[in-house]
Amino acid sequence: MKRENKGIHHISIISGDAQTNADFYVKKLGLRMVLKSVNQDDAGTYHLFYANAEGEPGSSITFFPWKRAVKSIRGVGEVERISFSVPEGSISYWKQRFEDLEIPFDEPFERFGKPVLPFEDPDGLQLEIIEDGRSNDLPGWKEAEVPLEYAIRGFWGANLLLPQMEETAEILTDFLGFERSGESGNQILFEAGSSLGHSVILEKAENPQYGKTGRGTVHHIAFRTKDEEELQEVRQKVFTKGLSPTQVIDRHVFKSVYFHTPGGVLFELATDGPGYQSVASSDEEMGRELFLPDFLEPKREMIEQRLEPISI
Ligand code: ZN
Repeated sequence: MKRENKGIHHISIISGDAQTNADFYVKKLGLRMVLKSVNQDDAGTYHLFYANAEGEPGSSITFFPWKRAVKSIRGVGEVERISFSVPEGSISYWKQRFEDLEIPFDEPFERFGKPVLPFEDPDGLQLEIIEDGRSNDLPGWKEAEVPLEYAIRGFWGANLLLPQMEETAEILTDFLGFERSGESGNQILFEAGSSLGHSVILEKAENPQYGKTGRGTVHHIAFRTKDEEELQEVRQKVFTKGLSPTQVIDRHVFKSVYFHTPGGVLFELATDGPGYQSVASSDEEMGRELFLPDFLEPKREMIEQRLEPISI
């Protein structure tokens, strides 16, 4: 069943240099940095979160920057492409912007009835701009260089390249609120009822070659759950299916459970709240100050000395 308030929550990626990453997503794509934190498993490196103005679920793309990360080789069992949603009639603006900023892109085309403009980020991550009527009335980020009428509202969706699709399809429809709603060639479209992050395309790989992790590799894709109660419920269903979900982990801005899907992609379940505002001293400061979880707060001075400052 196609459910409201279900869909993609956030997507996390390994990137190269942090400043290059921030320049691209904030200055060139016009997203808002909504959280600047550290990788909780390696506090000497950042974890950067970009989203729409409100930092809503379905809009945040996050990065683990490693300056010396090697370039990835794409393969099966991965999120292959990430698509951003823009209001109808915006693609010609974005095409011109990519030309002006010398961002590599391909010619627009149509997929499942929607105009698509493919492009890539500085690490070779495959991205798309998609015109979507569901975005028309959503707010953009007013402090961006991109005019509000054309601004990215959040995710349209993502494309997963898989060796086999069946079990991943079942997870989407049985646990995550998606409905199978279209098919074209070796691609199947699944949709949820939310305004952002509502679409996932599963693509059967013709040549199932595994890739190599590096900058530009999607680390995981997270899906929305309403609250901790629903998180536990879905976790239990995942467990009953014979998969191995982690315990609930407190990420402070949301609570999370991770599990590997049989198709190879790492999935996360994340609660809608409390959200990025909950750790900011004010809306104005959201994403500007370095957020550290309590266990790292005593080491703040040392951590701040090790991180290269980022200007946005
Ligand atoms: Zn995550």
